[in-house]
Formats: sequence, structure tokens, C-alpha cells
Amino acid sequence: MTAPIRLVDSHAHLAMEEFDPDRDDVVRRAFDAGLDHLLCPIDISSERSLRITQDLTAAFAMIHAAAGLHPHQAKLFAPNLIAAILDLAGRKKILAIGEIGLDFHYDFASPDEQKKAFRGQLALARELGLPAIIHSRDAGPEIARTIREEGFSNGGILHCFTEDWDFAKTAMDAGFFISFSGLVTFPKSGDLREVAIKVPADRLLVETDAPYLAPVPHRGKRNEPAFVVETAKLMAQIRKTSFEKIAEDVLGNFRSLFKIDS
Ligand SMILES: [Zn+2]
Ligand SMILES: [Zn+2]
Repeated sequence: MTAPIRLVDSHAHLAMEEFDPDRDDVVRRAFDAGLDHLLCPIDISSERSLRITQDLTAAFAMIHAAAGLHPHQAKLFAPNLIAAILDLAGRKKILAIGEIGLDFHYDFASPDEQKKAFRGQLALARELGLPAIIHSRDAGPEIARTIREEGFSNGGILHCFTEDWDFAKTAMDAGFFISFSGLVTFPKSGDLREVAIKVPADRLLVETDAPYLAPVPHRGKRNEPAFVVETAKLMAQIRKTSFEKIAEDVLGNFRSLFKIDS
């Protein structure tokens, strides 16, 4: 008998309302699918996100969290939120600051507001000695510049990666892991697949970004952590390796980044 597959979902928003009807079942299905570790970013501007995510991390050993203000919410960046992040940062299951970053595809917050919130939180992560979970959409050069200017060397994850190879390289040089979502399973993701093929095995992660971006064959449905298996299978196919090898690599990478022994 072969050993059961053990995998990770490096990014899932389990506190979102989409999971209110069946959150415990979603977590059980993640266990059943072989997930060993799961990272939930807390939206620090939402009391609800904070409460539900903390309940999940308390109830399930496999669930970890990060704390930060998403670029879409950047206009809310203020001293009280910094204090809230600081309050959480020392806790055992808060592994990183995030998700933070820049999203120039949408304009929920102006570029200036986003840059201020990103830079402020990256500086905070540096001071706290924590990795950062970074969201970057159409913003690679500005993210790279900020990492460099802030002298940020704690590493972390470029989550739901959609940028080009040059940016992937710059991010990896700065100690980051590159996490691919269900987007790589979409037939029109040729450019992204080219990047996914090139990322070294010791820098690779996979995620769902649930409830968004369900991978093929679940595309269009609510996404959930168990579906990360489909993304890992596609990665194995395009990288011409086995699903088992991808699972082993991403689990090892997740553990080494966050210094987890189990
Ligand atoms: Zn994101
Ligand atoms: Zn996210």
C-alpha cells in the first residue's frame, strides 16, 4: 500500500461568508483529501474574519493564519490596524503578515493608498521577523522595488502568482516562494504555465485562494481547499513529474518557510 498523499493549501479564505453554511464539512473534506497544512489570511479590518479564523486555528492543528490588510482595503490603513496586527503577531499560529500587496488591476483603493499600506506592513513584518504573504496583480515592478527599498529579507509567499518570470526570479532572489492557484488549470493560462514550469521545486507552492478561482474541473463553482489536489495534479503534468513529487515538494517548502516540524 502506498502512503497517503499529504499536501498543503497555502492560501484559503475560510472565514468568508461563502463557507458559513458548511465550514466544518469543508475542513473535513480538506483532511480527507490529504491536506496537512492550510494557511488562512485574516482580513484585519474585519472583526468577523478575525474571530472565525482564530476559532478555526484553535480547533484544527492543520490550520494556520496570517494577519494583514489586503490592498483592496488599503484606504483603511491606520494606527488601530497596525496595533491589531501587532497584537496578533506574537501568537503561535500567526505565521506571517498578509495578505498585503498591490493590485493595480482593480481600483478599490488608489495606488498611493495601496503603496502606503503595503510599505507600512512590509516594514512591520521586517521588524517582527515574520515572512510576508504578498498579493501582486499587475504590480510586479512596484512590489520588487518596495521589497528592495524596505530591505525586506524575511521571505514569504507570492500568492496566486500571475506575474512574469522576471518578477518570479526577483522575488525568489529575495527569499520568496511562488504559489500557484487554480488559474494554471485554465486552458488559456499558457504564459502562466511557462512560469510554473520554470520555478525550481524548492520554491514551489500551491493554493486554492478559496472561495475564488476553482481549478478545472470545478471551474465556476465555489472553490475549497480539497480542490488544491487538482492544481497539484496539473502542476505534475506540465512539469513532467508525479503528483506525489509535487505534493512532497510543496509540503516540504511550506514547512521550511514557516519552520514547522510536523
Ligand atoms: Zn490575494
Ligand atoms: Zn487572498
